[in-house]
Amino acid sequence: MRKITFLFTCFLFLQPVQSQTIISRDPEISKMVEEVSREKIEQHVRKLVSFHTRHNMSLQNDPSKGIGAAWNWIKSEMEKSIPASDGRLEVKFEEYTVGGEGQRIPMETNLKNVVATLKGTDPGDDRKILISAHLDSRAALDADNTGFAPGANDDGSGVAAILELVRIMSVRKFPATMVFMAVSGEEHGLYGARHMAAKAKEEEWNIIAMLNNDMIGNSGSSETLLNDNMRVRVFSEGVPAFETGEMAARRKATSGENDGRARQLARYIKEIGKRYVDQLEVTLVFRNDRFGRGGDHSPFCQQGYPAVRICEFNENYDRTHKIPSIVNGIQEGDLPEYVDYEYVRKNAGVNLATMANLALAPCEPVNCEIVTGRLTNSTTLRWETPLKGSKPAGYYVLLRETYQPLWERKIFVTGNEITLPYSKDNYFFGIQSADEAGHESIPVFPGPVRRQ
Ligand SMILES: [Zn+2]
Repeated sequence: MRKITFLFTCFLFLQPVQSQTIISRDPEISKMVEEVSREKIEQHVRKLVSFHTRHNMSLQNDPSKGIGAAWNWIKSEMEKSIPASDGRLEVKFEEYTVGGEGQRIPMETNLKNVVATLKGTDPGDDRKILISAHLDSRAALDADNTGFAPGANDDGSGVAAILELVRIMSVRKFPATMVFMAVSGEEHGLYGARHMAAKAKEEEWNIIAMLNNDMIGNSGSSETLLNDNMRVRVFSEGVPAFETGEMAARRKATSGENDGRARQLARYIKEIGKRYVDQLEVTLVFRNDRFGRGGDHSPFCQQGYPAVRICEFNENYDRTHKIPSIVNGIQEGDLPEYVDYEYVRKNAGVNLATMANLALAPCEPVNCEIVTGRLTNSTTLRWETPLKGSKPAGYYVLLRETYQPLWERKIFVTGNEITLPYSKDNYFFGIQSADEAGHESIPVFPGPVRRQ
C-alpha cells in the first residue's frame, strides 16, 4: 500500500501520520534567519549612501565617491566571507560595456556587477539559486551624474540584505549553488541584469529561482499615508515573457496561465516566508511588475528563467529618484533615515529562508504527467525521480480549486504515481520533491497525457 499523508498547508507545525514528513521549521534555517542583523543592514545602507552618488556615469576611480567606490566596497565586503566558506565562496566583478550616441548613457561606458558564488557541495547537482539587487542610484535627472543620489532604499536596502545573506550563508553548506549579485546599470535600462541573464543563457545555467530585491525598506506610502511593515509584495509574471509555441499550446490545453514557473516560485516564497518569518505577510501580486516600471528580474524572465520581484508593499514617491531637499514642507529624497531597517531585516529573512529551503530540497520531479485519457472523477498523476542530486524521500502532491490562487492541500506520497478522488476538471495539481526533513522543491505543474 502506498503511504499517503494529508496535510493542510496553512499550519506551521503539522503532525502528519508519517513522522518523516513533518513540515516544521528546520532549526538551522531558523537560526540563519535569526542571525540577520538589523544593525548591520543599517550600517551597509549608510555606507552605500556615503558614496554620494552611485549614478552609472559617476566617478569610477575616486576612493570614496561614485559608483566605482561603491562596487569596490561591495566586493570587499563579500570577500570577508571567503575564509569561513572553506574556499567555496568566489567573488568577482562581471564587466560589460553599455551606451553610445543617442542612448540614455550617451557615451560608451564600462560598468561592473559584483557577483559572489557559493558553490554547492554536491557535484552532481547543477542547480543555481540567484538573488539580485542593484548597486546604482539616481536622482531626478537621467544625466545628473554628480548630484546627491543617496539611493538608501532604492536599492541600498536590497544590496544590504544581500550582504547579510552572503555573511550568514557562506559558513553553511548547501548541495545547490547560490549566486549573490549586486548589479549596476539598472536605472538606465537594466543593463547589469541583462548582461547576467544573457551570460546565464549562453553558459546554460540551471537557474531554478531568481529573486530580484529592489526597494525592500520603505514602509509608508506617500499621498495615501499608509504605514505597514508587515506586508511585502512578490511580483510574478502570468503568461511567460519567454514562451515557445509548444509551451503556449500546453498552457492553453491545461488553462495553466496561473501556473507558470515564476508563479510557482512566488507561491513557494509565500509558503516558506510564512514558515520562517514572523509578523510578515508575503502578498502575491499577479503581474510581472508595476505600471510603467521595470526590474532586474525581467531580463531573466525573457530568457526563460523563473524570476520574481520582491518589493515593499507601499511606495513613497517623495523619496524615489529625487534630489534631497525640503519641498512644501516635505522632505524629499531617498535618505537613510527613512528606511525601516526592521522591515528590511524581515524581508531579508524571507529571501534567506526561501534560498536555504530550496537549496536543501531535492531537485524537482521530472516528466510530471496528469492522465486525461479517461472520463473519470478521480485523477491520476505520474512523475519520475530526478536524475540529478540526492534521491527524494518522497513527493508532495498539491491541489487547489481552479479559482483559488494558492495551494489548498499538500499530500505526501512515497511512490511515483497517485490516483486521488478529486476530479482533474475541478482542481489544479502540482508535484514537489521532498527530503526526509521536509525541505521541498518548487512545485511542477503536470502536463496532460492521453495514454492511461
Ligand atoms: Zn530600483
